[in-house]
Amino acid sequence: MKSPGIRLTAVLAVVLCSQLTGQQSSASNTVAPPRDYPIKPVPFTAVHLTDAFWAPRIETNRKVTIPFAFQKCEETGRVANFVHAAEALRGQISNQDRKIPPYPFDDTDIYKVIEGASYTLSVKPDPVLESYIDGLILKIGAAQEKDGYLYTARTIDPAHPHQWSGAHRWEEEEVLSHELYNLGHLYEAAVAYYQATGKRSLLEIALKTANLLCDTFGPGKKTIWPGHQIVEMGLVKLYRVTGDERYLNLAKFMLDARGPGGSSYNQANLKVVDQTEAVGHAVRATYMYSGMADVAAMTGDTAYVHAIDTIWENVVRKKLYISGGIGATGAGEAFGANYELPNLTAYNETCASIGNDFWNERLFLLHGDSKYIDVMERTLYNGLISGVSLDGKSFFYQNPLESNGRKARSPWFGVACCPGNITRFMASVPGYVYAVAGDTLYVNLFAGGNAEIPMGGRTLKIVQETRYPWEGNVRISIDPGKPGSFAIKVRIPGWARGEPVPSDLYRFVDDPHEPVCVRVNGRNVPIHLDEGYVTLNGEWKRGDAITLDLPMPVRRIAANSQVAADRGRVALERGPIVYAAEGVDSPTHRVRNLLLPEDAKLTAAYRPDLLNGVEVIEGRALSLAYDAQGKVVRSAVRFTAIPYYAWANRGRDEMVVWIPDSASAAKPVPSPTLAMASKVTASSGGGRVTGEGMEKHPEAVNDGDEPSSSSDPASYFDWWPEKGKTEWIEYDFPKTSTVSGVQVYWFDDTGRGEVRVPASWRVLYKDGDAWKPVRSAGPWGVERDKYNAVAFRAVTTSSLRLELTMQVGWSAGVQKWKVE
Ligand SMILES: [Zn+2]
Repeated sequence: MKSPGIRLTAVLAVVLCSQLTGQQSSASNTVAPPRDYPIKPVPFTAVHLTDAFWAPRIETNRKVTIPFAFQKCEETGRVANFVHAAEALRGQISNQDRKIPPYPFDDTDIYKVIEGASYTLSVKPDPVLESYIDGLILKIGAAQEKDGYLYTARTIDPAHPHQWSGAHRWEEEEVLSHELYNLGHLYEAAVAYYQATGKRSLLEIALKTANLLCDTFGPGKKTIWPGHQIVEMGLVKLYRVTGDERYLNLAKFMLDARGPGGSSYNQANLKVVDQTEAVGHAVRATYMYSGMADVAAMTGDTAYVHAIDTIWENVVRKKLYISGGIGATGAGEAFGANYELPNLTAYNETCASIGNDFWNERLFLLHGDSKYIDVMERTLYNGLISGVSLDGKSFFYQNPLESNGRKARSPWFGVACCPGNITRFMASVPGYVYAVAGDTLYVNLFAGGNAEIPMGGRTLKIVQETRYPWEGNVRISIDPGKPGSFAIKVRIPGWARGEPVPSDLYRFVDDPHEPVCVRVNGRNVPIHLDEGYVTLNGEWKRGDAITLDLPMPVRRIAANSQVAADRGRVALERGPIVYAAEGVDSPTHRVRNLLLPEDAKLTAAYRPDLLNGVEVIEGRALSLAYDAQGKVVRSAVRFTAIPYYAWANRGRDEMVVWIPDSASAAKPVPSPTLAMASKVTASSGGGRVTGEGMEKHPEAVNDGDEPSSSSDPASYFDWWPEKGKTEWIEYDFPKTSTVSGVQVYWFDDTGRGEVRVPASWRVLYKDGDAWKPVRSAGPWGVERDKYNAVAFRAVTTSSLRLELTMQVGWSAGVQKWKVE
């Protein structure tokens, strides 16, 4: 680069480029739309990562997760559903095969894994995989009805479809049926497979369904909006591939048909252009905002852009976890109220993190501001990849920021949206590194590898060398093919500029004063930021190099004081990585009782042997416990924190992200009681694991945590969905003990679920092999929000049983059970 050419400019003309784009597009398989995003991502097919962080993950996704997910789709009957639907269409189905899938959206899991597999095929041909997918596509095609309708949950048994599907097509779509959700994922898969292989087989199936939609819905026809969004994004992809404007128009029609007066659960409470706050189901929400961005880019609709910009401000100011996760509450898998960001019960669905990144990437492509990449990067390195284990074979559906030691990853879920979503997202990660607008290259993410980027009539070759995210030195070598003048905009991440998120929701509490440094061919460049970028404008020639030095000290982060769950606590971050303390690294196996003094010295060290190689944070902390007299005892312990994304790869353990740094927030370990020392079991009624992988453990009733109310969702046990039954929970004492009273704190989720205080209850003790009721005058209280104490004539026994009978039509549960 000729040095006089270096200057800093506020660039970004909106260029309608003839170059073909789309996150997943390859040049030969799309039709350039007349309007598009002003900035185009450099497709992942043009970016080859060779680094130690992403390249092995992408390879694990290709070699382990994708085959594993296909295998699970086979084992769980998701593939057979298509076969049976085809048999039903031919009138050849046996009665036993007329079995409706457990969930009406089970078809999507196959579509998602096909999409992920297609992305891998477009960078690494694999004839065996391709032929397997061809076989799946034949099965999918055979399950399609004559007019294009494709939905196994009805076709298998049209007279008795899935209970959520309605008696007729589409009639339950806006609530439960997920017919359009299935099609949206089909479109994404079909476009991906077409672009990867050039084969139109799945695309033709998809277009046939889309044509059915165009014939059925639209102005002058029926009106509909999707109960679970994604078809909007899918239709825009079909439009990109075919140039057929009907698909784009239908996407816009479905967005405009939404609200007002509907449920906020699926964002139908208001017209989409009138929405200002992120509400309801977080995955649906982010898919809708992404679809609005797509339609806005293609149509120039500024009202859509205004709405999603406003909603984004709400999320980033009030509803975003430090991990980048969103969707705080399990009730409706939804955004909570402003600043409602609990840690132990944080829902943070993996799919919502993926949706958050789809949405932020699109906002960047619309606006060119790096603040969207800041949010995207935070989510990507923390609350998104936490959703898959390091070995690629087990998953999180929820990504909480604290664990009481009872949460573990699962190889699959009844509702299996997250694993399939991981397969498609992980395969496309290189597509988020660079973007282009006219003669300007954006370097958004830092990852070692090379890229060949068509830009302004040249092919620009870029090589990045870096150990990011563990080290902040990045060298970007440039080969412009022929010398020429263009701009390179290098993102200076928010975390390196003293701003963890682009709002006042989180702030660094320390100030290490280490400057960011940018050099071109060894010469320092003054740092003038333009929307978070340093713009390097000039004549570039082969051999030019940009070097970037982003200091990565260990940082402490505090949350806005309105976030109750984080008061008196700090999170640790280094570079883009958020840290967590996990029990397995603590000498006591406990971390929820830690206190990290403000002056505790923390250092970082690379541990190649740990968790596939991670930078850990080490120091000393205080471990707190109550003694028998109720006094808090402090002892100094070795402190280790690992990257949050890597927790739960070594078994079940306690985990915290937000660590108390003030005694008021600390949670000393309670002094042991007879109940806490007991083995707890419960009658087997009720589901122990929900479709979404939430586990219920009877151990919750004696874990020493104190509930804030009967509805506190943090740590309880219930028998839902059993109703009106008699159930029990039992303590087996470590040794025969004399007891004369109990205290029970009932679980009751009125307003949210179907668990209420019981109709009646009693306590039994073990006498030999027999269970006998204790003698007491009662009262056997069923008050909410407090302990209900009952004294009884003392018994000496090895085991005590709490037996309850539920109210008719309701379930029951126990928060805590103490024994005296
Ligand atoms: Zn999911």
